[in-house]
Amino acid sequence: MTVPRLEFRDVSRSFEDGARATVLALRPTSFTLARGECLRVLGPSGAGKSTLLALSCGLLLPTSGEVLLDGEPFSRWRESFRAAARRRRLSVVVQGLSLVTGMTALENVLLPMVPDGLATRAARERAESWLARLGVSDVALSKVELLSGGERQRVALARALASTHAELIVLDEPSAHLDAARTAALVEALRERLDAGASLLVATHDPRLDSLGSSLELAPREGAP
Ligand code: ADP
Ligand code: MG
Repeated sequence: MTVPRLEFRDVSRSFEDGARATVLALRPTSFTLARGECLRVLGPSGAGKSTLLALSCGLLLPTSGEVLLDGEPFSRWRESFRAAARRRRLSVVVQGLSLVTGMTALENVLLPMVPDGLATRAARERAESWLARLGVSDVALSKVELLSGGERQRVALARALASTHAELIVLDEPSAHLDAARTAALVEALRERLDAGASLLVATHDPRLDSLGSSLELAPREGAP
């Protein structure tokens, strides 16, 4: 039996919120994600989709349960090891995990492709081609802090798609700022990465991403209207 790329074993997460006492952001959740497979995380706003994604890449730790990456107890590793895994093995586009300010959009896309800082012509062409496919080539040489929220998200997506090292790709609402043609290009690129053996975890309401794989529906948060 092969080890799943990602496994959630009864993972829950609560937050202490001064006003509301304890908020259960994610109820105990279990699933496995194999190599080359996609899991779409569905559910209404507040159901815990972004929390689940943050747990999957070790940006948050579970209140109970365990997250395993290739069978290893990822959620028990110390932060520096989780950060190294995010750099080397994961490709993450989530809210709050921002681009590097002071650098241009193009430099940000090149960052995970050329960790030693020496961009080859091929890497640069690949980065430029992804910025173009996502419609942000006109801001390639702008510092990212000057871009709009939507532009920043597309640059982050270009960064995730341009680097080919990722074993697990984690995307939060990736088509939120994309038109139909760019969403089609995104789906095609993700399909290629799945065929190459990467795994994909994606929070989305977008039916245009349905063809990528199976889904996990999170129930509405208790007390939500
Ligand atoms: P979704 O992405 O499905 O809209 P989230 O995972 O962002 O849902 O949030 C789930 C619930 O957890 C919401 O009620 C949200 O307010 C709460 N929550 C998320 N992060 C925090 C936090 N850092 N502190 C307090 N509550 C939080
Ligand atoms: Mg969310």
